[in-house]
Amino acid sequence: MTRKGWAWFCLCTGTVALIACGGGAGGGAGRACGNDFLTPNYLSENDPADGDPNRVLFWPGFPIRYVIQNAPEWNFGSGTVFGTSLTTASMNRWQTATDGGVDWQAVASESQAELVVRFNQVASEPGAGGTLGSTTLSFFVDTGEIVSASVTINHWPGMTEAQVRDGLMSTISHELGHALFISGHSTDEADLMYWRAPTDRDKAITTRDNNSIRSAYCNDFRNRGRSLPDSRRPIRTITVACPPKH
Ligand SMILES: [Zn+2]
Repeated sequence: MTRKGWAWFCLCTGTVALIACGGGAGGGAGRACGNDFLTPNYLSENDPADGDPNRVLFWPGFPIRYVIQNAPEWNFGSGTVFGTSLTTASMNRWQTATDGGVDWQAVASESQAELVVRFNQVASEPGAGGTLGSTTLSFFVDTGEIVSASVTINHWPGMTEAQVRDGLMSTISHELGHALFISGHSTDEADLMYWRAPTDRDKAITTRDNNSIRSAYCNDFRNRGRSLPDSRRPIRTITVACPPKH
């Protein structure tokens, strides 16, 4: 058990009435507050994409060191849109939603980064069976602590301004949600973390999205001070793929 988990355990034993201790099926060990820390949320739902239980994951501390690769730019009559700007705006969204709890730090190279956001050009707009984006997560199996993450954002020739300004904002924000706290999806189409998304419309972080990320961290977005990962602990790597809604 981590020190953080132990602290929660001690607190919980004294204040059972105030805190939902150990609740929530499928909650990762090391998160002693349980999935129902703040409700409503979707942490204990089954991913509508495949029916599997959502898996709650978390970073052991912030800021997350990131690098953005292959970011394109688009020129419209209204001005130039930069892939890097869409990415940082999406990062700021999660930071604002968590009152600064989620924090980011740009680094110069992939070797320094824990999170890589990579833009990937595909031949044409993704249709049925295609994906708007995907996120690969490596995490300790025993606790759900994330070791590293990689986000892929697909773009294609001839994207409309709405697909770039609104659709990509939604896709990047959604994939960052995976990278921050969940392998799985919401069952409610209103949520940013619903499993399918329109290609030309932006979505906001809803109350359920916000409760979900805060519950994944027990609302404790602490600064770094962690020890190096123990390489003897088993690590699993999974990829979440996110299709368009047509
Ligand atoms: Zn997704």
